[in-house]
Amino acid sequence: MSLTRRAFTRSLLAAPAASGALSLTARSSVASTLSVPPPRAIVQIGRFTVHVLTDGHVDLPYGFFTGQAPEETAALATASHVNRDGGTLRLGFTQYLIEDGERRILVDTGPAGGIGEHTGKLPSALEAIGVSSTDIDAVILTHTHFDHISGAIAGGRAVYAEAEVYVDRRDVAQFTDPAARSRAPDFLHSSYDATAGLVRLYPRLQQTEGDQNILPGLSTVDLKGHTPGHIGVRIADAGQSMLIVSDMLFHPLFHPARADIGFVFEQDPAAAEAMRAQFFPMAADDGALIAATHMPFPGLGRIGRDGGTLRWVPENWAYSS
Ligand SMILES: [Zn+2]
Repeated sequence: MSLTRRAFTRSLLAAPAASGALSLTARSSVASTLSVPPPRAIVQIGRFTVHVLTDGHVDLPYGFFTGQAPEETAALATASHVNRDGGTLRLGFTQYLIEDGERRILVDTGPAGGIGEHTGKLPSALEAIGVSSTDIDAVILTHTHFDHISGAIAGGRAVYAEAEVYVDRRDVAQFTDPAARSRAPDFLHSSYDATAGLVRLYPRLQQTEGDQNILPGLSTVDLKGHTPGHIGVRIADAGQSMLIVSDMLFHPLFHPARADIGFVFEQDPAAAEAMRAQFFPMAADDGALIAATHMPFPGLGRIGRDGGTLRWVPENWAYSS
């Protein structure tokens, strides 16, 4: 049976015919009683296996995005059909477990229940693949905003006490500076407090700066702007590579097309925009596989060119690469 354009349009708009149609609509409105395993994606980069995990998601009001009025973001979201109830955009919180056959390295630790009821899932995601906190040899924190470091602490204790923990010294300097804290808006204080906790509970904290080799094939990449010590993590082996870019891209509604759209947590908006404006076309030229924390899960994709516009091209999902 050929599906004509007319029939296709009708099938999108009309309810299915009652006779013989599966009751998909009714079924989808009922909460599932089946158990739901934590979602994950796997990427193989040479000898590195990267498990893409998630701590959950949050729905953020349009006012969190800077560079245009919330009404303009609302109009854009409505036109693109991604507006949610109450005028919000959904952002994910993704983390990465990297294995190289000898070590297990975790990149970021998530908001750990600290940002809404839909976060705090990373421990169960790790548990589902048979990894406990004591199995983690190293943790790399891409920056010290609350939603990336909060999971490193639970109940006033270091969750990854035995691991080597890496963080950029420029973020530690800013987020432990009482003068910077007092200049910062109230909603950023949780990041200052979490950074203070990190320094206190991880006395062996490894403070890096910008580009630095962690292991052969694994290095940090300076992507300062979103925060002063915001870094990416480059994984490269056997001619393959992947770049974890953390908060370079927030939502496909804006990024990578609009480097001028930022986030209200950015204390130096000009620096953040400058890095996006530099990075987005570079990544499009390079064609690199990118992993971005807040893009729709699993947040894997590339930056492509569509005429003069840059756009996000999601990576195909597969059981293995
Ligand atoms: Zn973030």
